[in-house]
Amino acid sequence: MARYRGSVCRLCRRENMKLFLKGDRCYSDKCAFDRRSYPPGQHGQRRRGKISDYGVQLREKQKVKRMYNLSEKQFRLFFKRAEQKAGITGSNLLVMLERRLDNVVYRLGFANSRNQGRHLVKHNHFLVNGKKVNIPSFIVNIDDLIEVKEKSKNVQVILDSIATVERRSVPQWLELDKDAAKGNVRNLPVREDLTMPMQEQLIVELYSK
Ligand code: SF4
Repeated sequence: MARYRGSVCRLCRRENMKLFLKGDRCYSDKCAFDRRSYPPGQHGQRRRGKISDYGVQLREKQKVKRMYNLSEKQFRLFFKRAEQKAGITGSNLLVMLERRLDNVVYRLGFANSRNQGRHLVKHNHFLVNGKKVNIPSFIVNIDDLIEVKEKSKNVQVILDSIATVERRSVPQWLELDKDAAKGNVRNLPVREDLTMPMQEQLIVELYSK
């Protein structure tokens, strides 16, 4: 399925929560969800009828997929990998999504959104353990060192993102050295580290049909 290229703010309004897809704008009074917290479209302000179980599951999957900026195919692939791992599939899925390099770059504050993180990773701005990695879906491991390449330390979007990292806050499983523009994976994230409201069990139910 093709990547969504429309207004990302519509996605927040559709999912009825802030998904933080647009960097600094999400924290400003220009946030479209804060201004119009009803679904997009001509009938967005109409009262919605009862939504079916399938509808609830579908919305939850769409929400998480959109939050991590993935296509259906990529999301399904991650789900398959989560199923194959020991433990609870839903938690495995969220933890694996969180360990993606584009997400880690965002969480460390080198990008102001996951989308920007993906873009920067693809354009070779980062090293992982001293080696060039330009694959957004690369899964980080404990003790991995993620650093902005020397040549990229003056890239304005990276500088701007690092300057506003406090607002987004770095999760406890990562450690940022802001001045050196590098960070490391202190420990692997666990489900409890993910604070956005997500009901992963609904996604498991949806894909188990
Ligand atoms: Fe969502 Fe950010 Fe747009 Fe607000 S500004 S609606 S949080 S993408």
